[in-house]
Amino acid sequence: APYLKIENLHVAIEGKEILKDFNLEINGGEIHAIMGPNGTGKSTLASALMGHPKYEITSGKVTFNGEDLLEMEVDERAQAGLFLAMQYPSEISGITNADFLRSAINSRREEGDEISLMKFIRKLDEKMDLLEMNQEFAQRYLNEGFSGGEKKRNEILQLMMLEPKIAVLDEIDSGLDIDALKVVSTGVNAMRGEEFGCLIITHYQRLLNYITPDKVHVMMQGRIVKSGGAELAERLEAEGYDWIKEELGIED
Ligand code: ADP
Ligand code: MG
Ligand code: MG
Repeated sequence: APYLKIENLHVAIEGKEILKDFNLEINGGEIHAIMGPNGTGKSTLASALMGHPKYEITSGKVTFNGEDLLEMEVDERAQAGLFLAMQYPSEISGITNADFLRSAINSRREEGDEISLMKFIRKLDEKMDLLEMNQEFAQRYLNEGFSGGEKKRNEILQLMMLEPKIAVLDEIDSGLDIDALKVVSTGVNAMRGEEFGCLIITHYQRLLNYITPDKVHVMMQGRIVKSGGAELAERLEAEGYDWIKEELGIED
């Protein structure tokens, strides 16, 4: 089964240390959630994993299915099966959604093993139905004029089409109404299985009403300060973060 193992990771932005001794292991079959107050470095973690040049790994180790992730180029990470939904996906002009998805799928396959157009269309139809997406969505130019909710839905469509081994979803729930939230959750839940691991980064607990995580981690000041099961997210929803700060003697 796939895995992502992060050990003693330290990450700095413009010389300022943001992640401090961050440790986490995600295995196939598991859905983890990271919650935490704003500015604690959740998105920094996601960006560092994807290899964003602005995020400097000052020390630590990340292993992805036995390989040194930090030695891999950005596109190699994606091709090896790591999926990262950005908080604000960029707009790419002139490429339809369907074209983009098909070439993304094929770039992850061996030459000669490309997905046939028929199979691709069948799979796309099936996933779009599940996500309650309008068919015309496939022919729209990538992200051009997509609403916030459409972008999120589209990210989940990408997830379902690409079938990565490990996905990191950063604030996939932000700005979604309840209907869109349910659809996004349906997509993630449909991916569940031994060959898929997922890290959901969220500021709010409400997404976790629809996707039950196996493990919940609280992040503060650049590291995980507490881990538990789904009940931890419920307690955070009810009581906020202050009790953890008190427990740990953290001042803000
Ligand atoms: P979170 O996602 O938990 O809200 P972030 O990872 O976005 O937190 O931010 C953590 C800290 O790093 C914050 O103090 C933020 O100001 C800083 N930071 C994040 N991204 C950048 C960046 N691109 N340039 C400079 N500082 C940044
Ligand atoms: Mg933030
Ligand atoms: Mg963030």
